[in-house]
Amino acid sequence: MSEKITPQLSERPPIVVIMGHVDHGKSTLLDHIRKTNIVETEAGGITQHISAYEVTHKTAEGEEKRITFLDTPGHEAFQGMRARGARVADIAVLVVSAEDGVKAQTLEAYNAIKESGVPFLVAINKIDKANANIEQTKLSLAEAGIYVEGYGGDISWVGISAKVGTGIPELMDTMLLLAEMEELHGDTSLLGEGVVIESRMDTKKGITATVVITNGTFKKGMFAVAEGAMTPIRIVENFIGKAIDSATFSSPIRLTGWSEIPPVGAQVHIYKDKKSAEEAVLSYKRTPIQHTAHEREKDGVVTIPLVIKTDVAGTLEAIEHELKKLKHERVKLKIIQKGVGAIGESDIKLACGSSGSLVISFNTKTDALAADLASRNNITIAQFNIIYKLTEWIEEIIKKRAPHISVNETLGEVRVMRFFSQQKEKQVIGGRVENGKIASGARFKIMRRDAEIGEGRIIELQQQKIRASEIGEGAECGMMVESKFTIAERDVLIPYITVEKQ
Ligand code: GDP
Repeated sequence: MSEKITPQLSERPPIVVIMGHVDHGKSTLLDHIRKTNIVETEAGGITQHISAYEVTHKTAEGEEKRITFLDTPGHEAFQGMRARGARVADIAVLVVSAEDGVKAQTLEAYNAIKESGVPFLVAINKIDKANANIEQTKLSLAEAGIYVEGYGGDISWVGISAKVGTGIPELMDTMLLLAEMEELHGDTSLLGEGVVIESRMDTKKGITATVVITNGTFKKGMFAVAEGAMTPIRIVENFIGKAIDSATFSSPIRLTGWSEIPPVGAQVHIYKDKKSAEEAVLSYKRTPIQHTAHEREKDGVVTIPLVIKTDVAGTLEAIEHELKKLKHERVKLKIIQKGVGAIGESDIKLACGSSGSLVISFNTKTDALAADLASRNNITIAQFNIIYKLTEWIEEIIKKRAPHISVNETLGEVRVMRFFSQQKEKQVIGGRVENGKIASGARFKIMRRDAEIGEGRIIELQQQKIRASEIGEGAECGMMVESKFTIAERDVLIPYITVEKQ
């Protein structure tokens, strides 16, 4: 049965992510844009806004254009998406304070943007401040390899004050210009696709997730699947919490009623009927996508950023002392924030800014605002009151996150006695296991007069004409192998298997 659908290709509003160092003004900028562009009373006031919103901006040319902003502090959502190969943001804005210039998280954000290939522009913020220095900021950007226009490069930049509002319309114009160059399109006639940018368990409503639609249409009565989670599209709200029947790109929507919590960054696909949705979930559960560990560094070392708050200074020292003992050659613990007192908003913001961070509360409380921010960003605050329990827990995480390394384990040595036949790369040979063993499926090195001449793989093994999976020392064997190199009598094969080690 084929349904004829007319493509409804149209321009797609850009989805924008704001990134940068903590305290450089990301939230202030997002708040300012939200407040000046959305009439909150429209929906009877935004009670609990979701982590993305849409605005309509009138450009300098007088055109009205839509923009969707991801309102997630830090880069966690961005990183989650990267790890899954999903790309939700079309444009990134790198916010840099004109007072401080480039800082550690500016670089982290820049690297994440660069790796994802998302076009970006720079917002030099806090220009209203007395000690703002735009030239100095551009210099610090250049030193970090970020060459803005008029400073040796072609990256657009706009000077703004997120607090006062200066430069924000120009910043939005520049975003739209960049979007225009990207020629973003969507097709409303397609079944919807999107990306989860926030998900949580709501004690009253059940599991809800915010999805930014990247293409097609989401309609009531259909079903959404995100990896191993699904939901009927029954309770749909737009970003101001208003119930809607359908939505299309690039709108953020909230869907309630998921079977389990869909992970942030997961791709969402729409199915017309329940059965196909269930099949998609089952098929995902059978072969889940292997996500790349996004916190992996280039040299194969994983860094785990830690935020630690304790009740008294003495325990903090003791914890640091214990953590120093936890050594792993491929995992590095990095304390990005530590202190005495309750866990506050700034602790969570910092944790959001470094992917894979752990927040540890030792005998201390968490502020309500911090707890809310953490839950919005899927950050768990681990609580302890016994040091060894804390170190045990971290040890487990180190083990889990340590990148696996592949090691070749030699199985034995086989001398080739007879060469029977060859058909392309497949060869039939006879040999004797001089030591160790040989196994079907194993790869082998071919040694000729003590020099390695190539490699191959064992397709089938036989012992006295009976198929075998392994043949041990001293026995003769028949082998069907695959190799680009023609094997000769008296060659020695060294079979090996590759094992993943932690
Ligand atoms: P974030 O961590 O990047 O989200 O930073 P915030 O938006 O929370 O801003 C950190 C602090 O800088 C807050 O106290 C803001 O009021 C202040 N701030 C942000 N933008 C500006 C600005 O343009 N001018 C001034 N004077 N202060 C700003």
